[in-house]
Amino acid sequence: MEVHKFGGASVKDADGFRNVVNIIKTYRTEKAVIVLSAMGKTTNALQQVVADHYAADTDPFIALNLLKQKHYEIIDLLFENKEMILDEINEAFVEIEWMIEDAPHEDYDFEYDQIVSVGELVSTKILAHYLHTQGVNVMWLDVRDVILSDNTYREAKVDWVETQKRIVNKTTQIFGDYDVIVTQGFIAATSENFTTTLGREGSDFTASIFSYCLDVKEMSIWKDVPGILSGDPRLFDDVTKIDKMSYREAIEMTYYGAKVIHPKTIKPIQNKGIPLQIRSFIEPEGSGTWISEQKDIAYPPIIVFEHNQCLLKIATKNFSFVAEDHLSVIFSLIAKHRVKIKMMKNTAVSFIISADNVPHRIQKLVTDLSKNFNIDQQEDLELLTIRHYNKEIIERLTQDRTKLFVERIPNTIQMIVKPNPDLQLGSKA
Ligand code: ASP
Ligand code: MG
Repeated sequence: MEVHKFGGASVKDADGFRNVVNIIKTYRTEKAVIVLSAMGKTTNALQQVVADHYAADTDPFIALNLLKQKHYEIIDLLFENKEMILDEINEAFVEIEWMIEDAPHEDYDFEYDQIVSVGELVSTKILAHYLHTQGVNVMWLDVRDVILSDNTYREAKVDWVETQKRIVNKTTQIFGDYDVIVTQGFIAATSENFTTTLGREGSDFTASIFSYCLDVKEMSIWKDVPGILSGDPRLFDDVTKIDKMSYREAIEMTYYGAKVIHPKTIKPIQNKGIPLQIRSFIEPEGSGTWISEQKDIAYPPIIVFEHNQCLLKIATKNFSFVAEDHLSVIFSLIAKHRVKIKMMKNTAVSFIISADNVPHRIQKLVTDLSKNFNIDQQEDLELLTIRHYNKEIIERLTQDRTKLFVERIPNTIQMIVKPNPDLQLGSKA
């Protein structure tokens, strides 16, 4: 058995769907679970529908109708016989219409999940129907029948034990008659059958849940890049593809902000030793990047930029040392407001953290901290991480940037830097 995951960029138009079908027909070698995201920028559009429903003066139907139109255009191009697929798509969209005709639900995150999840439901229906017209023996699976989660809307936690049972039962049953299962990434359901989502870009994680539960031979994530690159090709001319990478290295680089795969993807497949191939849906014959248990790989310097960091200098009000009791107050407030720390350091009279700048969370944290501490806050900063650094690369990347905070551990150097607006990042001039 194998698992293939395709993201929204791979199905942003009708040609995208045709290409995905070709890839499945050409590169599938065993019974396969296909995990698909919503088409193109659908999730963002649905997020807008939710926001417009909650805002007093905006009509959520405008964004929704635009999005429906996009889906209809693609269906027009893919199908001769459209009735059945249109019925199914409309049935999914009408659930949103019912919600936005009513007053907004008191829990924003709950409503968000009920609405945003429709993106994956419709994209997978289109793919499953289209695969069928192209002669593939395929079955559509509602992933909410198998992935059970808690009710932390927008960040739901998976119940692994029950999920594994359901995935094994359901897929065994379907694979008795079919070769391919098409299902949704990103979404799940609670024990009360409400829809949840697993966090933005969570479809990679869904693929990993299936891979783990089915102990598959291998998993593929099809991307618009040739594999994992040593840096962002939009910023650097001289990036190289990394052919082989260890699970550990992949976990480190996604943790520090590399967007190539979702950070939660690696751990489950590492536990089962399932190899993961990152490959290109644009040039599917390429060799991609293999992630597996490997040692003694010589990596080139790997550069990861995380934008939108906020630096907080937390100082005691009376210039006393920052002691353990202070730290315990600081950390409990950080946990309470779900602020994600990327770097931290304590000095004699202050404690410094850099965190993802989610404005409403940071503001609440600052308000609470200000009761006991003096806070100095700086925004619009970048976290630059270089794995396997050398002197030249550090010099090249920092010569024209202000370094606010630097930390070095073996193999990794991290810096909070102030971006210079006049300066191109990296080497691209
Ligand atoms: N469609 C979801 C998102 O855009 C999940 C995913 O693409 O992985 O966040
Ligand atoms: Mg996406």
